[in-house]
Amino acid sequence: MANKQDPLGAYRGKRDLTRTPKPSAGRKRRGRGRPRFVVHQHDATTLHYDFRLEAAGVLKSWAVPKGPSTNPRDKRLAMPTEDHPLDYFDFEGVIPEGQYGAGPVIVWDAGTYRNRTEQSGKPVPVERAVEAGHVAVWLEGRKLSGGYALTRIGKGKRERWLLVKMDDEEADARRKPVKSQPESVISGRTVEEVAAEAEAGEGRRDEGSAGGASGAGPRAGRGGRAAVVDRPDAGHPLRPAVLRPGLGL
Ligand code: MN
Repeated sequence: MANKQDPLGAYRGKRDLTRTPKPSAGRKRRGRGRPRFVVHQHDATTLHYDFRLEAAGVLKSWAVPKGPSTNPRDKRLAMPTEDHPLDYFDFEGVIPEGQYGAGPVIVWDAGTYRNRTEQSGKPVPVERAVEAGHVAVWLEGRKLSGGYALTRIGKGKRERWLLVKMDDEEADARRKPVKSQPESVISGRTVEEVAAEAEAGEGRRDEGSAGGASGAGPRAGRGGRAAVVDRPDAGHPLRPAVLRPGLGL
């Protein structure tokens, strides 16, 4: 998927940069430390979760229709999507109608991770592990923690992976965080609230009172950066052209 010369080529190709100049791909991440992971909940054509791992300067991404589980017995289908720029990490807001991946997005979980992928006892960098079809990580997020494995089970146009919780001390068959903890970890909002607030904001803009100096408008994210309503998603796998009834999406 990712081209070696320009790993974000697929992403750039799908963005309308004239309409939405920010964030353009390629800005380097500041600071050091552990790589980050994020899970966006995205209510596009179909509700799903975008699982993203920071690696080699991009966010390696999979769309997980049912979201991550904390039960090692659950095997969650994960479809790889285009690498996303690091700037997309804390994106929360509504992708407008007509844009790729239209619909509300929240940061459902975020944190850091440790790469635990090994081959013959030697560590394998995540970007190489993705190419090889197996990635093992230890997540340290707000909702998700412990070992997770991503394993490719089908190649080609219908490339499919499984996201599975490892059976470790962080495993918990009863938690079901997708249901019990639906809110954003940066704003506390649900994806429905983000959608409703953006709609209210649209109404206000229609009345000509948007952009007030109060800063308390519906687009001001709570505890996080402001929600953005005019930024398209990219690399979205569930657009109608790609919807595949055979996968039950
Ligand atoms: Mn998505």
